[in-house]
Amino acid sequence: MITQSLSTLLERNEIAPQTYQYFFEKPDNFDFIAGQYAFLDFTSPVNRDEKPSMRAMSIASAPCEDRLMFVMRDSDSAFKKNMRAMQVGDELLIKCPLGHVAIPENLHQPVTFIIAGVGITPVRSMLKQEEHIRSFRPIIVIYSNKTRADIALREDLEKISLDHYKTVYTLTREEGEWSGEKGRIDAEMITRNVDDITNQMYYVVGTGEFITAMQGVLTELNVPKEKIIFDNFG
Ligand SMILES: Cc1cc2nc3c(=O)[nH]c(=O)nc-3n(C[C@H](O)[C@H](O)[C@H](O)COP(=O)(O)OP(=O)(O)OC[C@H]3O[C@@H](n4cnc5c(N)ncnc54)[C@H](O)[C@@H]3O)c2cc1C
Repeated sequence: MITQSLSTLLERNEIAPQTYQYFFEKPDNFDFIAGQYAFLDFTSPVNRDEKPSMRAMSIASAPCEDRLMFVMRDSDSAFKKNMRAMQVGDELLIKCPLGHVAIPENLHQPVTFIIAGVGITPVRSMLKQEEHIRSFRPIIVIYSNKTRADIALREDLEKISLDHYKTVYTLTREEGEWSGEKGRIDAEMITRNVDDITNQMYYVVGTGEFITAMQGVLTELNVPKEKIIFDNFG
């Protein structure tokens, strides 16, 4: 059931350039599945523009965690200005849960996440929940960012304790030393890092442009359409 609750801001951190992490109180009886999203809105927004006052945001925390986490890139939109203006103790309207993105219940199904930038948010939730249920499925996260500094939630990803899990970072504009992958995600990069390519369930999360590019890459690799879930951030 979709509910709308007021929730209090507990903490805010800048975790990458222009990228903010927000922790909110989890309202009572707040149910969601890892991978789902919420609409965040203000009861009386101070800043307004021609766009609606609310935005869709993936829930970056897992259902097993005590607080709600959201991570978002900053911009000059009225919504982001209102987010920046929030003080600890202020309230936000959270409409939830929404969305169909969820990891398969069958733990024998290997999963590959193909992610750009802040698209890591629903993945963090799903990984944390997999850790909670002591999942044994193989999981690979291929995570693209412009530079090393832009990698959001890296510490969280590296603390995930699962038996068959790895994150492959790729940087598209890093000039300095870097031992991981470099360049955009393509068929060769996926082939290098993923075993049994056509047996994976793929989750592709990012902006529309990234989704379109990855659609092409997965088609090139002969991955059947029913094995791909897209989470388009717009
Ligand atoms: C299911 C779902 C989950 C999402 N989860 C997250 C998440 O976890 N974190 C997150 O950061 N975002 C997430 N998003 C995206 C989020 O809803 C916003 O669209 C995004 O954060 C941009 O919002 P904004 O207010 O900064 O920009 P908006 O004002 O909404 O603008 C959207 C885009 O249009 C461009 N734009 C705006 N104005 C102009 C202009 N005048 N000329 C040209 N271009 C312009 C902006 O650069 C931006 O790329 C999610 C979206 C969906 C659908």
